[in-house]
Amino acid sequence: MGVLPAMTLSGQAADFIDDGRLTSLLTPAATDATQVRDVIAKSVAKQPLEVEETAVLLRADEPELVEEVFEAARMLKRDVYGNRIVLFAPLYIGNDCVNDCAYCGFRSTNPEAIRRTLGQAELRSQIEALENVGHKRLILVFGEHPRTDAEFIAESVRTAYATRVGHGEIRRVNINAAPQDDEGYRVVKAAGIGTYQVFQETYHHETYARCHPRGTRKADYAWRLDALSRAMEAGCDDVGIGALFGLYDWRFDVLGLVSHARYLQDRYGVGPHTISFPRLQPASGVDLTAFPLVSDHDLKRLIAILRLSVPYTGLILTARESGQLRREVMDFGVSQIDAGSRIELGGYTEAGDAQQMDREQFALGDIRPLDVVIRELLEDGYIASFCTACYRLGRTGEHFMEFAIPGFIQRFCTPNALSTLMEYLVDYATPETRAVGERLVAAEVARIADDTARADLQARLQRIRETDARDLYC
Ligand code: SAM
Ligand code: SF4
Repeated sequence: MGVLPAMTLSGQAADFIDDGRLTSLLTPAATDATQVRDVIAKSVAKQPLEVEETAVLLRADEPELVEEVFEAARMLKRDVYGNRIVLFAPLYIGNDCVNDCAYCGFRSTNPEAIRRTLGQAELRSQIEALENVGHKRLILVFGEHPRTDAEFIAESVRTAYATRVGHGEIRRVNINAAPQDDEGYRVVKAAGIGTYQVFQETYHHETYARCHPRGTRKADYAWRLDALSRAMEAGCDDVGIGALFGLYDWRFDVLGLVSHARYLQDRYGVGPHTISFPRLQPASGVDLTAFPLVSDHDLKRLIAILRLSVPYTGLILTARESGQLRREVMDFGVSQIDAGSRIELGGYTEAGDAQQMDREQFALGDIRPLDVVIRELLEDGYIASFCTACYRLGRTGEHFMEFAIPGFIQRFCTPNALSTLMEYLVDYATPETRAVGERLVAAEVARIADDTARADLQARLQRIRETDARDLYC
């Protein structure tokens, strides 16, 4: 068993969350509709918002203005991201945990949790099961425990990349794991991780202290807030932030996320790659009535306002939410979703149709198979994508590529997304999904203006249909 790192902060660690200031920004005031519309106009012009400007949108709860925020988010999403949705699967590796988070089924004092950490052979069989349905991108999720230290995380990442079945392979492994020290980040980086996610859970200090009992590692707010700064300094410059919505006033935590994004951007010249906004779900031994849960309407508002505040940051919507709600908010600016997800330990080979609460961290809202989710996306006009081209070609400043180079999306992102979709359609889709997918691919190909790019793509798609050639991208 490994050892958890000493909790030493980065050189210039700062607590940049001033609760008093954020609270005062949210203090109700008469809405100035002109000011709200000015802020909306700024974000539609693709300029990131200041924290104070985000607060203007959060305070504006008149139905007419909320509708304008929704419409602007839809516009910005279409403008910036087009109609691609990237798909991934979560893979829970272990639920041993030294922490005691009030909201989590894995917390150390939950007597109902059945504890398990997957061995490498078990991990391989989970990955094979995921590859056999068509997944190419994973997020590995860990509790905080000496058993799942940085070396163990790195070994799991290497196993994921090394496991292959037929045309199946994992091309990108992201992780969601407890904060590490410099050495830990270097170890996981060397294993080839994609994004390193750590969620602050809530940025509100007092609520944070209430949810994370004193004496546990996670009780240290500063160590967690500094986690991604340490990651950046250790060379993991692709990071994801998040807040667990339902612990405190959702509007405060939106301001916390935007403050965090700005802080990383200002200090390291690169903001977070993604923002996650999980909403608190039922979990084994957790009494949800004790929490200020966020309504569906407010969840829609928070997604739209995040979209407008950080136009170039990916937004991740997980299967915690129901299929119906996911479908509704997809065009508010979501760029990635998980699908076909199971979060019971060993769930991809062992779980039945129903969820088992004593083996999972919380209950999922959408456990439809990957093929069903993909078909729905295609029917709604989205390109379901497994693309990893930029990372693979070392085009790592991919935000810059995608959003700053004119025509980059048309020239690279759409064709590469379509190639990965075609791989899925040929290798894994049901006949029904394949038929819907072929129609969408044909329509998308026809929309590519550049003759050479269109012909190149058509040739690649045909090779995928007719041969074993895979992983073709430009
Ligand atoms: N142990 C690591 C940590 O705490 O950073 C990994 C995180 S945990 C396995 C992944 C995330 O799930 C947490 O950061 C938290 O935001 C979220 N989570 C925990 N309990 C939840 C619940 N009941 N409903 C929804 N999300 C939950
Ligand atoms: Fe452990 Fe993470 Fe769950 Fe907290 S949220 S109990 S740290 S697994």
